[in-house]
Amino acid sequence: MFLRVRVVQKYGGSSVADAESIKRVAKRVVATKQLGHDVVVVISAMGDTTDELMDLALQVTPQPPPRELDMLLTAGERMSAALLAMAIADQGLHARSLTGSQAGIITTGTHGNARIIDITPGRITKALDADDIVIVAGFQGVAQDTKDVTTLGRGASDTTAVALAASLGADYCEIYTDVDGVYTADPRIVPSAQRIPEISYEEMLEMAACGAKILHLRCVEYARRERVPVQVRSSFSDKPGTWVRDPQPVDPDAQPDPEGAPVEQAIISGVAHDRGEAKITIVGVPDKIGEAARIFEAVAATEINIDMIVQNVSAVATSRTDISFTLPKTDGVTAITALNALQEEVGFTDVLYDDQIGKVSVVGVGMRSHPGVTAKFFSALAAANVNIGMISTSEIRISVVVDQDDVDRAVAAAHTAFGLDATEQAVVYAGTGR
Ligand code: ASP
Ligand code: MG
Repeated sequence: MFLRVRVVQKYGGSSVADAESIKRVAKRVVATKQLGHDVVVVISAMGDTTDELMDLALQVTPQPPPRELDMLLTAGERMSAALLAMAIADQGLHARSLTGSQAGIITTGTHGNARIIDITPGRITKALDADDIVIVAGFQGVAQDTKDVTTLGRGASDTTAVALAASLGADYCEIYTDVDGVYTADPRIVPSAQRIPEISYEEMLEMAACGAKILHLRCVEYARRERVPVQVRSSFSDKPGTWVRDPQPVDPDAQPDPEGAPVEQAIISGVAHDRGEAKITIVGVPDKIGEAARIFEAVAATEINIDMIVQNVSAVATSRTDISFTLPKTDGVTAITALNALQEEVGFTDVLYDDQIGKVSVVGVGMRSHPGVTAKFFSALAAANVNIGMISTSEIRISVVVDQDDVDRAVAAAHTAFGLDATEQAVVYAGTGR
C-alpha cells in the first residue's frame, strides 16, 4: 500500500553550488514529488555566496549596520530558491519559492542571530493543497515587532528546515549535505571515520554543541524538543545517511547496515572538535564571596555564551585566585572590554586572552554505564603527546581544551583508542561541509 508522507528536504550550499547542481537537486525533488509525497524544500545560498556577500559588505564599511547586513545576506537564499523553482518548472512540475517572511517564519529582532518565535505556514499549506512543491529560502525570517528581515545565524538553514517540519507536521526532515551522514569524527580530519547509522537527539546535541558542524546546534535542539526525526544524508549519493531520532525498538528481522558503524552499544559514539573558541584568564582575583558572581554577571550582560570554567585553588600567601573560561572567538573583544571595565572595582591583576586553543570531546551514552572512559581518553592523549589545558564533563561527554596545533592528533588518538576506526576511507564529496 502506498503511504503518502510529508517531507521537508534541506539542501546545503555545496549541493547547489552551480546551475548543474541546482538541476541535479531539482531532479531529486521532482522524483520525491512524483512518488506522490508532499515536498517542502529549504535551500541554502549557492556555494560560498554568504561569505562573498559578507566580504562585499566589509569592503563598503568595516561595521555594516546589522539590519542592512541581514537584507544583504538573505538575498543569497532568495537566489537559490528562485533558481531551484525554475529548474523544477523546467522538469515539468510546479514549484513556488517563498522568502522566510512569506513562509511565515516570525523571529525575534536580533539581527544576525534571530530566534524563531512562531511559524504561520498558511501560504505553504495552501500551496501544498494545490499540489505544488514549496521552496523556502533558508536561514531567514521576519521580526515580529519591526517587520524587518532577519537572519538566524550562520548555518541556520538546518534550523529553518526542522522548524518547518515541526510546524507542518512533516513525517521527517532530510538534511542533504556533502558527506554521507554523521560520522564518528570529521572525515576531513579522520579519514577512517565511520558513518553512524542512528544517533539519539541527546548525543547529537552534545556533538553539535562541541563543534561538530554537520548540523546547526539550534536545529538539533528544535528536533529534540519537537521530536522531529532527521535524516542527514548526501545529495551526491543514495546512501541511507544517519537518522537522528529517538532510539528505535529493535526489529529482529532487520538487515544490519553493512557499511555503518555498529549500532550495538559502543561506549563512545563520536569524537567532536572545535577550533572556534578562545580562553580568557582573569589573574589575581581576590578570593572573596561574590567576586566570581560580579565577573560573570558582567560577561553575561554582554549576552556572550561562556563554556568551560576553571577556578584555581588560591595561593595561601596572597588569597588570590585565577579564573579561566572559554568562549566563542568572535566574542573575544566584547568580553575583554567588559572585563577591563571591571578591573578597578574587583581588583584583579590582569586579563589574559589566548585564541590558540581547540576543544576535543568524546560523546556517548555508553559512558553512563562504563567506568574508565576518562582514563582511556586521557591515556590516549598522553600517548599522542597532547597536553590537557582544561577539562569539563557532562553525563555523556568529556571535553578537553588543548593547544590548537594538537587538535587533529588528539581527535585521531581518541578515535583509535575507542575502537572507532574503519578499514575503509570515508567519502567527502565537496569538501566545504555545507
Ligand atoms: N547560507 C547561510 C550560511 O552560510 C545559511 C546556511 O547555509 O545554512 O551560513
Ligand atoms: Mg550546515
